[in-house]
Amino acid sequence: MKKGIFLIWIDEHRQMVERVTLPLIIVLMICITFLFSHTGGVKLGYSHAMYIPVLLAGFVFGFRGGVLAGLVAGFMLGPYMLHDVIGGDSHSAGNWTFRLTVFTLIGFLAGLTSDSARSYQQRLKWLLQHNTLTNLPNRNALIKTLEQYDITGDEARTFLLVVVCCENEIELKSAFGSSVVEQTILQLADRFSRLCTEVKIFHTDLSQISLLFRVSYSEIDPLLANLLEDSREPVLYNNVKIHIDTRIGYFIFNDAEELPEDCINMAEAALIVAKQTSRDMVAYNPAIKTATEENISLLGQLKHALKMGQLALHYQPKVQIDTGRIYGAEALIRWEHPSRGMIPPVKFIPRAEQSTLIDVITEFVLEQAIQQLAAWQKAGIDVSISVNISTRNLLQPGFTDLVVRLLNQYDLPGELLELEITEGSLMVDVEHTIDELKRLTQLKIVISIDDFGTGYSSLQYLHQLPISVLKIDQSFVRRLPEDQGAVYIMEAAVMLAHNLGLKAIAEGVENKQIYQFLATLGCDMAQGYLIAKPLPAEKFVEWYRQYAGTYHHSDSTS
Ligand code: C2E
Ligand code: MG
Ligand code: MG
Repeated sequence: MKKGIFLIWIDEHRQMVERVTLPLIIVLMICITFLFSHTGGVKLGYSHAMYIPVLLAGFVFGFRGGVLAGLVAGFMLGPYMLHDVIGGDSHSAGNWTFRLTVFTLIGFLAGLTSDSARSYQQRLKWLLQHNTLTNLPNRNALIKTLEQYDITGDEARTFLLVVVCCENEIELKSAFGSSVVEQTILQLADRFSRLCTEVKIFHTDLSQISLLFRVSYSEIDPLLANLLEDSREPVLYNNVKIHIDTRIGYFIFNDAEELPEDCINMAEAALIVAKQTSRDMVAYNPAIKTATEENISLLGQLKHALKMGQLALHYQPKVQIDTGRIYGAEALIRWEHPSRGMIPPVKFIPRAEQSTLIDVITEFVLEQAIQQLAAWQKAGIDVSISVNISTRNLLQPGFTDLVVRLLNQYDLPGELLELEITEGSLMVDVEHTIDELKRLTQLKIVISIDDFGTGYSSLQYLHQLPISVLKIDQSFVRRLPEDQGAVYIMEAAVMLAHNLGLKAIAEGVENKQIYQFLATLGCDMAQGYLIAKPLPAEKFVEWYRQYAGTYHHSDSTS
């Protein structure tokens, strides 16, 4: 048994250890005293044997036990004991009081050492079970609680494990600093603790709280509704009211077969679905598990897919609205899976972005796109190519160098390459991102903000960013011109772009009506199914040649 585990074992079985040790100490002391009085007295030096029960007392009962045992031992070998049994000499007061003092001191020190080791161990145990930022019980504590619960025997009630996640954590941190997340978690935990008498609260991830309820089935729905409402109430930070975007995943179980880790995974899988589908709250169901497993296995196959040439780029044209010139193409990744057919990027890119896989993918996409650019330039197809990159790429050391190396390798000027970065992701590390973007714009590479209008408050940084294009998200574009709200947003976005000296491009242009409306708004460029869907490289060339480089509506489009 490892030493650490032995100490933990003693700690967990303290009562039993104490019950065994106390009589042992008494018996040892009596035996040692008996030994002295019958073998020749204290002078023979057996008195050292008395250290054993004294140390044992200190070790098991702490410093109080050690001192008490030392005093008892000192008196037992003290005034009533002869110094030399054969010679009949009693020993001096100085002699036995000195021994008593030494025993007491030894007992005290042994106890102190044992107490310190125990409190250190307690601290370690606490750290293992708590989040040090908020002092709330952590994921290990939740697992332990689930292990210890007796699930059987109460058919009327069930367990409800709820995971609440604060989605705008990055935005909050960049605006107020990291302590805002701790404050948010603490205030939410306080609110949730009042929802139900039988609730246990855990801080299971940086911006995630898990709640374990024991409730009757009829209580579940109202409880979840109250929970959602409470989680969306603003929190106070330095007297400022802060809005929190929360999403909830939950799992209901009353089956003793479920392992604690599985229960947590299931509630978290439901939370992931809530995030992916922008729903407030999602309950776990077995279909989620299958989808999650499929996603994970998909990610595992991605590297292999790259090697096997299953990934390819399709190109979607972009045109200038006033002249119709086909000036560029967006490279969009496609995965032709041997058994599952075409897998769209939304199925694997967001997951890859959370891992280092996105670095490999972006390197592949950049290389392919730049190679294609060189081939098209040679063939007289004068279009720029844009590549989607994630902030993770930008923050990766060596990213800019990779871009420079590839452009040099194919002897291409920077202005033919455009990098699209989504608005929300710019908020991760604004300073660093701006520095990297500046290095790229020095090479004349065009930077555009993708999905503009869907991110958070990067408006405050917009004028600092070295960007040239705002790409307005298709969710607004597709609602034009009927939806008045979308019209206002489009007008404002186009005006904002122009006032900042940027170009505006609308993505998701699906019909002629939208295209014409964009022209009246003064939007510079357009991209969408009306013009063309993303096409494989050779199809793109055919399409481009068919239009001779200038787009015009064909009669078949409406
Ligand atoms: P995105 O960059 O905003 O790309 C535009 C998406 O809208 C593409 O979807 C495109 O096919 C689709 N689209 C274009 N016009 C229309 C239209 O008129 N109507 C509709 N309904 N959709 C239209 P896709 O190819 O599925 O890509 C989805 C997202 O995946 C992209 O959004 C981008 O964020 C990401 N993505 C694609 N390829 C890559 C890549 O190579 N690297 C990275 N990091 N992300 C990529
Ligand atoms: Mg894009
Ligand atoms: Mg987009």
